[in-house]
Amino acid sequence: MTGLLSVTGLNVFYGEFQALFDLSMTVGQGECVALVGSNGAGKSTLLRVLSGLMAQRSGHVALRGEEIGGIGAECVVRRGVALVPEGRRLFPSLTVEENLLMGAEARRPGTWTLERIYRLFPNIAERKRNLGSALSGGQQQMVAIGRALMSNPDLLLCDEISLGLAPVVVRELYARLAEIRAEGMAMVIVEQDIAQATKVADRLYCLRSGRVALEGRPADLTRHDITEAYFGMETAHGA
Ligand code: ATP
Repeated sequence: MTGLLSVTGLNVFYGEFQALFDLSMTVGQGECVALVGSNGAGKSTLLRVLSGLMAQRSGHVALRGEEIGGIGAECVVRRGVALVPEGRRLFPSLTVEENLLMGAEARRPGTWTLERIYRLFPNIAERKRNLGSALSGGQQQMVAIGRALMSNPDLLLCDEISLGLAPVVVRELYARLAEIRAEGMAMVIVEQDIAQATKVADRLYCLRSGRVALEGRPADLTRHDITEAYFGMETAHGA
């Protein structure tokens, strides 16, 4: 698989606190990579750096061979990386359509339009004049995904899209993500549910305490490998 994103030797800090240590990962064109790991492992921090919301102290983030680490969120979107943030982060006082259009501010040429997003998510098409605050959690997540697609990215970063949603809604969202992927979109998916992550991902990275504890294709990893990397030696052997 040809390389799209290449992260090497990333060290990231909040003040004096180091959240990521010498972290390296890759995402191929059209590849779906899952990031798993317990609370505080560094998954959201990594997505913040990939999306330009935070800068690394050292290391590189290269998209198609060009450095995007530290260039800022808007420039990163213009290069083709869009984030679906944890907690959806819609503007509650704007309508569904206005929220979607916010994603078009740094729009690149491409095929994602309001009409296509409404076809993908008929649920939100029916509510396009409703305020963000009037939507269910699942509908808000659809708008958050649609808003990211409006920039026509090559790489979609999804931070815990299942969080707090009913299983039936989670299945629906992942079915729509599969349709988006079928068109060649690369994805990085942060997912707490290991079963879900192994189902959708071509490759998986397990982070622990800011480091890659395990990497591989789901078919090559056992459940034991993953839980051991997820929780660390002590708990995994006791579990
Ligand atoms: P979660 O599933 O809880 O979101 P995560 O794997 O996404 O976990 P991060 O949110 O990236 O983990 O956090 C990694 C580490 O960085 C944690 O120790 C966390 O306490 C710390 N951290 C995260 N955000 C900040 C911040 N704004 N200021 C200081 N430390 C932070």
